Amino acid sequence: MTTHIADPGAARALGTVLGIWAHPDDEAYLSAGLMALARAAGNDVTCVTATLGERGTDDPVTWPPDRLARTRRLEIEASLGILGVDDHRLLGYEDGTLSQQPAATGIATIAGIIEDVHPDTIVTFGPDGITGHPDHRTISAWTTAAWERTGTGRLLYATTTAAFADEHAELHDRIPVFGPGLPLRTRDADVAVAVELDDELLDRKLAALRAQATQVQPLIALMGEEVYRRWWRTESFRAAPAHRPQPSPGGLGSFGGLVPRPALLRAVAPRRDTALIGAAPRREDPTATRDGGTSRGRSLRAARSDDEVRRSP
Ligand SMILES: [Zn+2]
Repeated sequence: MTTHIADPGAARALGTVLGIWAHPDDEAYLSAGLMALARAAGNDVTCVTATLGERGTDDPVTWPPDRLARTRRLEIEASLGILGVDDHRLLGYEDGTLSQQPAATGIATIAGIIEDVHPDTIVTFGPDGITGHPDHRTISAWTTAAWERTGTGRLLYATTTAAFADEHAELHDRIPVFGPGLPLRTRDADVAVAVELDDELLDRKLAALRAQATQVQPLIALMGEEVYRRWWRTESFRAAPAHRPQPSPGGLGSFGGLVPRPALLRAVAPRRDTALIGAAPRREDPTATRDGGTSRGRSLRAARSDDEVRRSP
C-alpha cells in the first residue's frame, strides 16, 4: 500500500527525517519535495552527504577538485536553505572512492548519526543506486547495515517506477544518466511512499536544483527547462526489507502509527550547523591510483561500466 504525500499535513507522519546521500544534488533530485514538506510540517530534517562530488565535472581544467568541492559545498547549503533544511552533515570522503573505503568505518559513522538524530524515517539509495553509481550503491549498503545495527526508524529506498521509466524512455535514451538495466521499474504496489509535487513545490524543487548550478545547468540546457522541471515531479520510495534482528521499542513499526515528537521539544532543541563528521583523509595527489568509480560527469550520472570507470582520470 502506498502512502501519498502531497502536503505538509500528510508529511507530518514522516516524523524526523534523515537523508543519507553520496554527492551534493542526490538529495535534491530524489527528496527535495519530501524534505520541504516535512520541514513545512514542523518536522526535523537532517541531510548527510558523504562526498562533495569534487570530480563531478567534464571540465576538470576549469573545475579542479578543490575548487569544485568549495563551490559544491556552497551550492548544497543554498539548495537545502531553499527547502528549509538547516542540519547538514558532511562525511568528508573523496568523491568516487566510497566502494574502496573501509565499510566498518562508514557503517559506524552512519550508525552514530542515526543514534544522534533518532530519525523516524531514513531515506537513501536502494542497492541499485538509482543510476548504478558505485558511490550510491555503497551508501545504500552502509546505511542499510547501520539501520539494522541501530534498529531505529523506518528505512526507505528512493526508487523509480515503470511509469517514470516509460514516460521518460526517449529522454533516457538520449541522455545516458542511468546504467544498464536502470532505471528500476518498481511496481506501483511496491511503492511505500510517493511524494507528489504540485506546481508550487515543483518550483521550489527546481530552485533547489538550480542552486547546484555546476551540476544541473548542462542537463537543463540539454533537456529544456519544462522537461527537466517535470522529470522528478514524483519522488518514490520503497521500504527496505525488514530483516533487522531487533526492532526498537517504540520505533516506527508501521507508517500510520507514528506520533511526531512534540513541537516544543523541537523548538528548544539547538540547531546544528553544518558539521564535518568522521572526515576521511583526502588524497593529496588527485592522480593517485584509483581502481574504482568516480563521479566524473554529473553526479547523478551512472558509471556505465567498470572499464569506463577505470578510464576516468
Ligand atoms: Zn550522486
